[in-house]
Amino acid sequence: MSDVSILLPNLKIKISYPFPIDIKHRRLVQQAMMAYYASISNFSNHMLNSNLMALIEKYRNGIAFEEIEPPEIVGEPILALTTGKDSLHALMSLLDMGYKPHLFYLDRINKSEAFYEKPKVKEIAKKFDLPLHIPQVTYSAIINRQNHNIGFRELLIYGAAIPYMQQHNLDTIIFGIWRELREGPLSGDSHQVMSTYSEISGYKYSFHPLGIEYGEDKCIKDFCEKYYDLFPYVTSCYTQINYREKMYENISSKTGFPIYHGCGYCIKCCRINLGLIAYTNLGCLKSRKLLLGHIEKQIKIKNLDDPVINSLLKVVYK
Ligand SMILES: [Zn+2]
Repeated sequence: MSDVSILLPNLKIKISYPFPIDIKHRRLVQQAMMAYYASISNFSNHMLNSNLMALIEKYRNGIAFEEIEPPEIVGEPILALTTGKDSLHALMSLLDMGYKPHLFYLDRINKSEAFYEKPKVKEIAKKFDLPLHIPQVTYSAIINRQNHNIGFRELLIYGAAIPYMQQHNLDTIIFGIWRELREGPLSGDSHQVMSTYSEISGYKYSFHPLGIEYGEDKCIKDFCEKYYDLFPYVTSCYTQINYREKMYENISSKTGFPIYHGCGYCIKCCRINLGLIAYTNLGCLKSRKLLLGHIEKQIKIKNLDDPVINSLLKVVYK
């Protein structure tokens, strides 16, 4: 067992691995932790390794996110699986492409979501008979979770996965990401940071294996049409533990629509439930109408101007 830890104002984190880690890989994990910390705490940039900052600056005007090519995967990849629809779709795509990816889950990064995610990750690994790596995380932080946008979360997952990549001779980590993540408080978008870290670490990363232009709309369509049986494994939802189920029961009883697990109110649930209306024949006409009414009300209340929701609405009303 070996531990990598940092103890800083507002953040105490320790990641424990069930095997020894050399100094080089320990430093890579620590660097990812520091970047994560800097991004969540408005801490000044000097906390970061100066090489990392210099490289981030270099990449800031580099390749546009839209120009990212799908990866060339050497050997088996490791997949950062959260059991959100996107990473689960990435898994199905990799399996369709003939890969048997290792799965990686970083516990407690999504806080209350871990309650739903961790058991599902284990079920999925068992279902598809894939190796699963979950380091033990001891973690406490005061984090501003406004809009759920925790900066550099992916970078921390990336860094934490590297000792497993080294241990199992893996070359590339995959994330089920379709779109550029929003700017964090520290230093811009995730692609710049990830490519920078890739240069430092020597381990490749990639966003969705089908290429980012495949897109979230088609991902939702695939779930409704091809992977419907996997809905019980999807945990995409922003609402916290203990509230999801109650909110779900509330809509379920009001609309009579057999919707997937989730709160039904947050943007993620609105996207998926709208997808179910757009791409399935589920529910009677009345329940479909009631659910659509509920979603449109949420769009209005939350003032959502979301490209995925807008394109799904076009399908619903075509
Ligand atoms: Zn939700």
